[in-house]
Amino acid sequence: MCEDDVTPSGALVFYSEFDDFATWRRALQARLPALRILHSSEVGDPAGIHYALAWKPPAGFFARMPNLRLIINLGAGVDSLVGRDDLPAGVPVTRITDPEMARMMAGYVLFATLRHARDIPWFEQAQRRGQWAYRHPRAPADTRVAVLGLGELGAYAARELQRQGLTVLGWSRSPRDIEGVQCHAGMETLDSVIAQADILVVMLPLTTQTRGLLDRQRLMRLPRGAALVNVARGALVDQAAMTDLLQSGHLGAATLDVFEREPLPADDPLWRMDNVLITPHLASVAIPASAAAQIADNILRVSGGQAPLRQVDAGRGY
Ligand code: NDP
Repeated sequence: MCEDDVTPSGALVFYSEFDDFATWRRALQARLPALRILHSSEVGDPAGIHYALAWKPPAGFFARMPNLRLIINLGAGVDSLVGRDDLPAGVPVTRITDPEMARMMAGYVLFATLRHARDIPWFEQAQRRGQWAYRHPRAPADTRVAVLGLGELGAYAARELQRQGLTVLGWSRSPRDIEGVQCHAGMETLDSVIAQADILVVMLPLTTQTRGLLDRQRLMRLPRGAALVNVARGALVDQAAMTDLLQSGHLGAATLDVFEREPLPADDPLWRMDNVLITPHLASVAIPASAAAQIADNILRVSGGQAPLRQVDAGRGY
């Protein structure tokens, strides 16, 4: 859609505690020069707000705006948005599907997966002991990686893993076809996919169907010594069971970017475990320079009376 077709009415409100407002405003304003873009702290009359670009705004945020026409989730995961009770009826909710965000996520997943596939934690420990400890590398194809979730981010990461020569399995709700990836779909195939994973990468959205999906029983189906990489949401995994299994050695290692409670409490045993790498929920972020185009396009669509693209299906939860 061409930006000259329609001048959007009303203003856009921005809210995020993590993303830089000035950068987002610059990127959006370059595409929509006539649109008023306000930080939530600058909003005078909420009736003038037609569009919201927001990440985890406080409770009641949307209810204050009687003329909202579009809510844009400033990110990919919408779990904290779909269950809210302040979403005005009939206002479409969209998410960002930014190829640069998918690339950044794939970079993290590649790093974490190859770190395990190449036994890097084992060499780090040997180095700390001052030991030249030789362990012969396995052929890439001998490491089986299962990616749970083959959406915008999961499918991209699965392709990148496959390009490294690893054996890649994928799992989703509906059947997917990704060249070089052994794709499986549906609950009935999950246990078998898990049982074949030397490295399990979790890239599912958090929904009523997926909350707690990786419980103790399912984690126990992993081959002994397997590694877990969770870049999706902490509540997909039973964290207490995962911690036990990391302590017992059934799980060999974990790279964790997300947790049941964030920030991860200072007294959580995961902080002190040698076989766990923790990062503070930053595997990927939306990048203004590339995501602004699709946001501007959706604002123009709505402004011109069309349905926006990339709508979240509230019933499905993602
Ligand atoms: P998408 O919504 O594009 O894709 C979700 C995938 O999960 C789809 O393949 C979908 O199946 C599958 N899925 C959903 N429900 C089920 C189910 N019940 N059973 C089997 N498969 C299911 O998500 P994205 O790839 O964009 O993102 C995935 C998640 O990553 C986000 O929801 C978010 O939580 C997280 N994330 C984390 C970030 C971080 O920094 N740590 C940054 C960004 C996102 P189907 O293909 O059939 O629809």
